[in-house]
Amino acid sequence: MTTRSTCPYCGVGCGVLIDTEDGRITNVRGDPEHPANFGRLCTKGSTLHLTASQAITQHARLLHPQLRSTRGEALRRVGWDEALDHAAQQFASTVREHGPDAVGFYVSGQLLTEDYYVFNKLAKGLVGTNNIDTNSRLCMSSAVAGYKLTLGADAPPACYEDVRHADCLFIAGSNAAWAHPVLFRRIEDARAERPGMKVIVCDPRRTATAESADLHLPLQPGTDVMLFNGLLHIMLWEGWTRPDWIARHTSGFEALKARVRECTPEAVARVCGLRQEDLVTAARWFATSPATLSLYCQGLNQSTSGTAKNAALINLHLATAQIGRPGAGPFSLTGQPNAMGGREVGGLANLLSAHRDLANPTHRAEVAALWGVPCVPERPGRTAVEMFQAAADGEIKALWIACTNPAQSMPDQATVRRALERAEFVVVQEAFATTATCEFADLLLPASTWGEKDGTVTNSERRISRVRPAVAAAGEARHDWRIAVDFAQRLEAALRPGAATLFPYATPESIWMEHRESTRGRDLDITGLSYARLDEAPQQWPLPEGAREGRARLYEDGVFPTADGRARFADVGYKPLAEARESRYPFSLITGRLRDQWHGMSRTGTLGRLFGHVPEPVVQLHPQDMERRGWKDGELLQLTSRRASVIVPVAASDSVGLSQAFMGMHWGSEFLGGMGQDGRPIAGVNALTTSDHCPGSKQPELKHAAVKIVRAELP
Ligand code: SF4
Repeated sequence: MTTRSTCPYCGVGCGVLIDTEDGRITNVRGDPEHPANFGRLCTKGSTLHLTASQAITQHARLLHPQLRSTRGEALRRVGWDEALDHAAQQFASTVREHGPDAVGFYVSGQLLTEDYYVFNKLAKGLVGTNNIDTNSRLCMSSAVAGYKLTLGADAPPACYEDVRHADCLFIAGSNAAWAHPVLFRRIEDARAERPGMKVIVCDPRRTATAESADLHLPLQPGTDVMLFNGLLHIMLWEGWTRPDWIARHTSGFEALKARVRECTPEAVARVCGLRQEDLVTAARWFATSPATLSLYCQGLNQSTSGTAKNAALINLHLATAQIGRPGAGPFSLTGQPNAMGGREVGGLANLLSAHRDLANPTHRAEVAALWGVPCVPERPGRTAVEMFQAAADGEIKALWIACTNPAQSMPDQATVRRALERAEFVVVQEAFATTATCEFADLLLPASTWGEKDGTVTNSERRISRVRPAVAAAGEARHDWRIAVDFAQRLEAALRPGAATLFPYATPESIWMEHRESTRGRDLDITGLSYARLDEAPQQWPLPEGAREGRARLYEDGVFPTADGRARFADVGYKPLAEARESRYPFSLITGRLRDQWHGMSRTGTLGRLFGHVPEPVVQLHPQDMERRGWKDGELLQLTSRRASVIVPVAASDSVGLSQAFMGMHWGSEFLGGMGQDGRPIAGVNALTTSDHCPGSKQPELKHAAVKIVRAELP
């Protein structure tokens, strides 16, 4: 039997065909009819069937609810009723005793849109707290803030097909060759079809993507805004902007022009560490190509200047009218499979359903009416970093963590681990038994996962695809939406006794129908869609009632979703990194994704063949830096930031610049013995990273930390 579904690994959102026999997944193939991949899969996607079965045979799956009554006690197996009754009683008493803001929900871009919708309603509609945030905060919240600041709505205006129409591709802070491999194959195809296409890659490292570029701009970490403002300076100087289009469709250009006056090629070359002639070439290709498409990702987003970096790049598109045409536009790539769906349902602390804003009283009233609750609370919720800080400070006492592994993936692990220890009740809803966060759970709830789940996801190009179950959930695992509903119904019995349930859902489709209604009249209106229509083919939003198909690209009429219909230039300037390297911490540590691994390896870590590409954690250093210090390949080095130390073997690589170090983000404490300032063991590379975050998007600067590096002294 074959089931159509979607790959759960990245925001490309490839369609897959899952073959099953006797209730077991036996093979996975690319879906030739899915418009994200037309049958292609990358290494991770094509081994999904193996990782799914290995997780079962290697006992990496959680199969039963487990509970401990007191800390220090071992978890014991319990039934679902006991588990959920206990959770509801704990959350209800916390809310009664300390108020609704004493609880927090930390969810995930792995959740399907239906799961996300229920969790958001549970926190904001039932409990009455906006303390719900997601690991997507670590992935794309700067892209959201950048779009809203400039274009007026969180809506990527381009689509994958635009890669084929572009004459210039401007790739910034994205190693698409490894992080979005099937999209990168499209880029390779487009270049083969159109040899005149120019590809510019802005990245401090010489990544696989940068290797393939016509022009690589190896800028110093964190200097992107200076680079983009400098490119605008050159475009203005050379007369490559489009004053007619700017006058008709935008506002705010004069202020930005004044700001970039100082961003001369000399100044930019000095700050960014680039050659002036390369800056001029990049500006010319971007501005004068018939169509320029930008692709960007975590290198821009995971930064204390994340919003400014996104906005400064979009400024370039507005100044040159490179938007709203085939092959032209700013196109942010989502890291996780359903980061976009989480944005759609408002599953972040500052958002509400269907791209509404929590800070907007009309939006709060609309959502309250939709949900049938008196109000949605006005108090801002805690974002990811703030939530764990609040728990570490004793302000959040009950934490519900769903499908994510903050004890490895959040920056400043010492604080996160203190938070998980100090919180009085921690629920971890998870498919995999191997995540570091499971160790902190008072209650472990087994969740279904890929191959078992039913619902929808939205990929980077606004395309909604069905996720379908091919096999039954393992053990006693339940679907994430079902767990949230079962818990919510118990909690409302405690908090709203006698009231009709807010969660009357029997199927994911019934949740999706409520979500669909919430989008009526909004920029992402999907009232013309149904599960039945999605079963025919994945669709892009918006697709309002009566529309024949979704919109491939936005703003083709030059009208933007702002009060005056004009896009807004953002007057943003360059600010240095949160932790610039200095004499005590003289290396820039850059973190990133490897080709064949996924997040904290909970899926990919069980399959040997995925370690063929990079078998073990290493820190990459420039050969000259190693030679100067007498370090040899494979030697153990100790990296220390202001927060912690880790020990890891070194590998020489000229893909990193001088005084730079690179580490993959995937390995945890089991491989990278690390230690916090207090001498306690701590996990992986994020022991070192900083929780300093962008003031606009609250996205932390996971990409960069200042470190010192010495030869490890082992006992
Ligand atoms: Fe899955 Fe992304 Fe690879 Fe496609 S590119 S198969 S979505 S990991």
